[in-house]
Amino acid sequence: MFTIEMLPANEGDALWIEYGDESAPKRLLIDCGRKTAYRTVAGRLGGDPTLNFELFVLTHVDADHIAGAVPLLQDARFGPSKVKDVWFNEFRHLSPTAPDGDVESAGDSDEPDTLGPKQGEFFGAVLRDRVYPWNLEFDGKTVVVEDEGELPRIELDGDMVLTLLSPSWTKLEDMQGRWIDDLKGSSIEPGDWKTALDVLDTDRSSLPDLLGGEEVDWPPDIEHLVEEDFDPDGSEPNGSSIAFLAEFDGRAILFTGDAHAPLLVSNIRRLLAARGQERLKLDALKMSHHGSARNNSQELLELLDCQRYLISTNGTRHNHPDVKALARVLAANDEKVTLVFNYRSDETKPWDDEDLRRQHNYETVYPTDKAGVLVEL
Ligand SMILES: [Zn+2]
Repeated sequence: MFTIEMLPANEGDALWIEYGDESAPKRLLIDCGRKTAYRTVAGRLGGDPTLNFELFVLTHVDADHIAGAVPLLQDARFGPSKVKDVWFNEFRHLSPTAPDGDVESAGDSDEPDTLGPKQGEFFGAVLRDRVYPWNLEFDGKTVVVEDEGELPRIELDGDMVLTLLSPSWTKLEDMQGRWIDDLKGSSIEPGDWKTALDVLDTDRSSLPDLLGGEEVDWPPDIEHLVEEDFDPDGSEPNGSSIAFLAEFDGRAILFTGDAHAPLLVSNIRRLLAARGQERLKLDALKMSHHGSARNNSQELLELLDCQRYLISTNGTRHNHPDVKALARVLAANDEKVTLVFNYRSDETKPWDDEDLRRQHNYETVYPTDKAGVLVEL
C-alpha cells in the first residue's frame, strides 16, 4: 500500500502517508499546520499507542505548515519515541557557515503572514528540549541540495526512497534575512532557544484570516490563462521548503511543500539527466503552495508525466488554488487528469462542473466528510 491523506489543515498542509504492509504500515508525516491538523494527528496517536512515524518533515516555517506542528511536538501523545527522524531547517541551518550576524535584510515582503520564524524558533526549541531526533539522515546538519553532484537519496525502512529536490543553499540564505527581520520586535534572537521556550509558554497564537482575493471569471478561459506570464513566488520561507520525490513499490509522488518552481525545475532536470529520462513519471503531485499560480509554472508541469494533482487548502488567506495554476495543469496534459481537493471551498467548488470536466478532460475528488481525503497510489 501507498496512501496519502490530506488532513484538514485550513489553508495549510498536513499530509499523513502510509506505505508497506497494510497490517503494519510505515508512516510519514509532512507538515502539521494549522491547529485543526494537530488535533486530528494527536487524536489518532492517542487512540493507538503503537502508532509511530519513520519521518516527520517540517517543510518550512510558514504558519500554515507549522502552526499545528509546534503543539504536536509538545503533546504528550507525541514524543521522541514516536518518530525516527525529524527534518527541519532552523536558523543555524540556513548557511553552510555559522552566520556572523551581518546577514542582509530581506527588505519588503510580499507575504503578510510573518509569524513563521517565531514558530520556527519554538519548533527548534521543543526539538531540543524534548530531545527529538533531528536531521539524523543529514548528520544533524542542513537538509539541502548542493548545486553540484548527486541529489541526496534517502532510504527509509520498508524500501521507501526519497530524493531531495529543494531547498538549495541560495534559497536558505535568502531565508536568513527574512528570519532576522521577522524576529525584530520580538524578544527572541535567532537561535536563542531558551528564550523561545519561555515565550512559547505564554504564547496563545491565533491568526485572523485575511479576507480578499482577486475576482475570477467563470468558466475559466483555459487557453487564454495559460498564455499569461509566470510570476514567480518571491517568498523566502516558501523558497526554503524541503521538497522531495518519494518512491515506493514502483509508485512515485512529488511532495513540494511551498517550494519555488524554478528550483524544482532545475533539480528535476538533474534527476532526469541522471536517469536518462525526459519527463518525471509520477502517480501524484502535491501541488506546491496549495496550487498557487506563482509556484506551478508551465515549465514545471510539462516536465512531469502525471495525471493526479493534490491540492491541500481551504482557500482562506490566499484564495488558493489559483485558476491559472489549474489551467496550466489541464493545458500540460493530453490525458485525463484528476484534481484531488481536501476541502470543498469557494475556490475548489466551481471545478465540480460536468460541462467543464468534459470540455477539459478532468475528474474531481472532494472529501465526503470533514476528515480530509485519502489518495491511494
Ligand atoms: Zn503553505
